[in-house]
Amino acid sequence: MENKKDFDIIIVGAGPVGIYLGYRFSKMDRSVLIIEKDSKESTGSKMDQFHLESMVFDKYEIPPPEEGTDEFITKFNYTSYFGPYGKYQQIMEYSITAMRFQFFIQRLLLMAEKEGVEFIFSAEYKKPIIKDKMLTGIKYDLNGSIHTVSANLIVDASGSSAIVRTSLPEEIGVENFRILDEEKMYVIQRVIEWKNPDKPHPGKGKKLESVSYLYYKTWIAPHFLPNANILGGGQPGGFENQEKAMETFLKDVSLPPYKIVDVHKATTAYRRSPFSIVGNGFLCIGDSACMSKSFSGEAIESSWNVTLIAVEEIDKLLNEGLLLTQENLWDINVRFFRNQGAKLAALLAQIPSAANLTKKDVSYLFKHNIIFSGEDFKSMWENLELNFGFGRLFKIIGLFLGGLITRKFTKKALSTMLKYMKISGAIRNHYEEYPTDISNYDEWVSKAKDLWEPVESMRYTLEDES
Ligand SMILES: Cc1cc2nc3c(=O)[nH]c(=O)nc-3n(C[C@H](O)[C@H](O)[C@H](O)COP(=O)(O)OP(=O)(O)OC[C@H]3O[C@@H](n4cnc5c(N)ncnc54)[C@H](O)[C@@H]3O)c2cc1C
Repeated sequence: MENKKDFDIIIVGAGPVGIYLGYRFSKMDRSVLIIEKDSKESTGSKMDQFHLESMVFDKYEIPPPEEGTDEFITKFNYTSYFGPYGKYQQIMEYSITAMRFQFFIQRLLLMAEKEGVEFIFSAEYKKPIIKDKMLTGIKYDLNGSIHTVSANLIVDASGSSAIVRTSLPEEIGVENFRILDEEKMYVIQRVIEWKNPDKPHPGKGKKLESVSYLYYKTWIAPHFLPNANILGGGQPGGFENQEKAMETFLKDVSLPPYKIVDVHKATTAYRRSPFSIVGNGFLCIGDSACMSKSFSGEAIESSWNVTLIAVEEIDKLLNEGLLLTQENLWDINVRFFRNQGAKLAALLAQIPSAANLTKKDVSYLFKHNIIFSGEDFKSMWENLELNFGFGRLFKIIGLFLGGLITRKFTKKALSTMLKYMKISGAIRNHYEEYPTDISNYDEWVSKAKDLWEPVESMRYTLEDES
């Protein structure tokens, strides 16, 4: 390896993905620097509570939060999904842990520091340093003065701003697109306090701790305050659409009396990942690389999965004394896109066709356990795909035909779903054939672009029906 660098790895962004990546590299005795624009105390203050699948703690070797600490809210085994008007309850059995984000991030920070990761807080990434088409370092601003630091690999873990990736020239080898407003879901989370907390309400009771009303893209989730829950919702096109959707939801589904005690607004990306997540001296991961699960908007677990692949491959290259060029890093792309990346892409292509369905169609699917069944939700969470055995597929075809004959399910909905099932299947197949040889990449990208072209984006659909 030429020219000794200050660090093996520099990571921009101390979010859940950047810190975890730094921690894993440090465990392999790699020198890691994380640059974070927020102060140490405020790191992780971007959101209040969140949840993770309970299995992640074992899988990623992070101790689970301890009950009774500020970090822990609750652990629940069931999520209830309801169709329009709050009818046709479907229950998913899958363990989820609800936590407070900032406390979790602060614990991760400590774990990483103990492992030897260096942090510079209140430091903002400014620009890349490039030499012979390789990213070799970055410039950052600390208290108004500009500093330079070098590494064998620069990682963008800056979240949806993708501040490093979007600043890179083409020669690094990664798409530098920004996430556009129309590629975001606009989320409003209202903290609500129940006026009669002892009476039954969603958010309380067996199998009702976490409740989702899919048609309205609205949910009720645990909150750490007593007698409180999150009443949340997300819609494409702007926060005003979420407000309108909430009005429709509250007209259709009557909730017991509550008062709103706090409101948080945020966005999540709803977009395909860059076709390559590695470049010359570069890796992007997490929200900066649009790795979210499109059915939930969550990217932490999926990005940690990529972390394990990246750390293994990069450690191998460094041990061999090889430069971290895009070509040498290519196996990270191959391992990601041929597996999890293919599933994420297929879901992203498929979901709008289901999410944009009418009330009548969604009701039919919920009522007859088609696609929106507890088992289907579990399969999506667990395996990132729907699992149709032959027998079930046969039954579903029968139910679709029955729906058409009785006019309870529209032909338009069926043809849209079939159309996107086909597109999404083709996208998945194409990703599963991600080129192992970088010289076939351009050809692969050209076909991938054609496949993505007809994919529908998320629309605000509730208005079409009122
Ligand atoms: C309302 C809401 C609820 C969510 N709930 C969940 C959930 O329950 N479970 C789940 O898995 N996911 C959830 N998500 C998604 C989740 O928050 C993201 O997928 C996750 O935070 C991505 O992690 P990240 O590390 O890639 O980016 P981020 O968490 O965005 O972290 C990026 C870090 O980079 C820093 N940074 C940015 N720019 C610079 C710069 N110029 N210089 C230096 N540092 C910089 C930021 O300050 C930040 O600390 C939710 C998202 C929203 C909006």
